[in-house]
Amino acid sequence: MYVDDEPVDIWPWALVRDLVTWRSEDDLKRIRRGELHVVDAAGRPVELGGHLEAGARLYLRAAGGKTAEPDQTAERDEPETARRQRVGTKHTEDRVRERVRAMPKTDLHVHLDGSLRPATIVELAESHGVSLPTDDPEALGDYLHVRDAQNLEDYLGRFAITLSVMQHSDAIERIAYELCEDAAAENVRYMEIRYSPILLTSEGLPLPETVEAPLRGMRRAREEFGIESSLIICGIRNMDADVSRDLADLTIAYKNRGVVGFDLAGAEYNYPAKKHKNAFYMVRNANVNATIHAGEAYGPESIHQALHYCGAHRIGHGTRLYEDSDLMQYINDHRIPLEICLTSNVQTRAVDSFATHPVRLYFDRGLVVSLNTDNRLMSGTTVTEEHVRAWKHLDFTLDEIAELVLHGFRSAFLHHAEKQALLEEVEPTIRELAA
Ligand SMILES: [Zn+2]
Repeated sequence: MYVDDEPVDIWPWALVRDLVTWRSEDDLKRIRRGELHVVDAAGRPVELGGHLEAGARLYLRAAGGKTAEPDQTAERDEPETARRQRVGTKHTEDRVRERVRAMPKTDLHVHLDGSLRPATIVELAESHGVSLPTDDPEALGDYLHVRDAQNLEDYLGRFAITLSVMQHSDAIERIAYELCEDAAAENVRYMEIRYSPILLTSEGLPLPETVEAPLRGMRRAREEFGIESSLIICGIRNMDADVSRDLADLTIAYKNRGVVGFDLAGAEYNYPAKKHKNAFYMVRNANVNATIHAGEAYGPESIHQALHYCGAHRIGHGTRLYEDSDLMQYINDHRIPLEICLTSNVQTRAVDSFATHPVRLYFDRGLVVSLNTDNRLMSGTTVTEEHVRAWKHLDFTLDEIAELVLHGFRSAFLHHAEKQALLEEVEPTIRELAA
């Protein structure tokens, strides 16, 4: 394929947006600002979300240039960004934020140890005699909000601090309760909170208590704020397979008692999922759900392993899935949901920028994708902000955002009847807010 007669080597199922971005992110920004238009060889405007034929030739023309006179532009052929500018203030950022905030939402991928309030960390450190890099909540929050990670491992380094105040029942209960309270405040209706119980035992807390404690906090939040939540237990890639098997046992013991799934988290590079396949076999054999962090810091081979060695029912991130079109087709055909975490992916450098995140491609191809926070603290984000960023950087319309939000409810590890009842309850409100 070609842009301005320059050959661009890109995957065959790319969209116009991908082709432009692949060559230059700056061009995409200029298109968004309305300074450039994309046209075909005949000078006709081309939509950013349009599909490409093999050998397609596209040209970038300055706005008002002779190949793309605005008065020749039929509304249906207008690029999304130009359309948005023409309709003016109808969908300003504040308006989108207000609508998204009001929508009932899910957060299916949120780490308990990555979603604490800085002030709580300071108070817990004081009461349990833990030393912190600083006792000032604002400075601590700033330090824990990752802005300069080189990779996933670098990002994960911050968790040693949060975990240091999560070694006692009262602390864990409070952290789970406050996470639910914060999520409920932005209308999250259902949340699946994940964490690795083994990381909460360094001061002797018994494994069952590491599950009972957050469940108490979640139960209290349900009564006070009406937010439903469940737990997902994480094995850790860079720990022994024995540890994963112990955690699989724990997951099975709490099946139908608040735990809805088993996950594999931690450093992905050099730590393949297949090493933990026995733990996943135990979990699936007990009819429990599995999700796996994959395709975040490693390529599609990692997603392949998560699916075919470990039997994952959902994939955490899946950022690099687009590199394997065959696997992407399989995931689409089997409606395997991807738990997308935009901000976190930019921070860990899984993608170069919001504008180049493949979630746009996945959504356009019909994959089941939802947006999630990953870590409210380290990523400095909320479910609302993740959707606003998709609107701002990836041209998601409010209608499309409603679809992402509904995908979240559809992908939940709830029993079928519960899920249908919840969907029936929330769908009219979500659609109304998108109108
Ligand atoms: Zn994660």
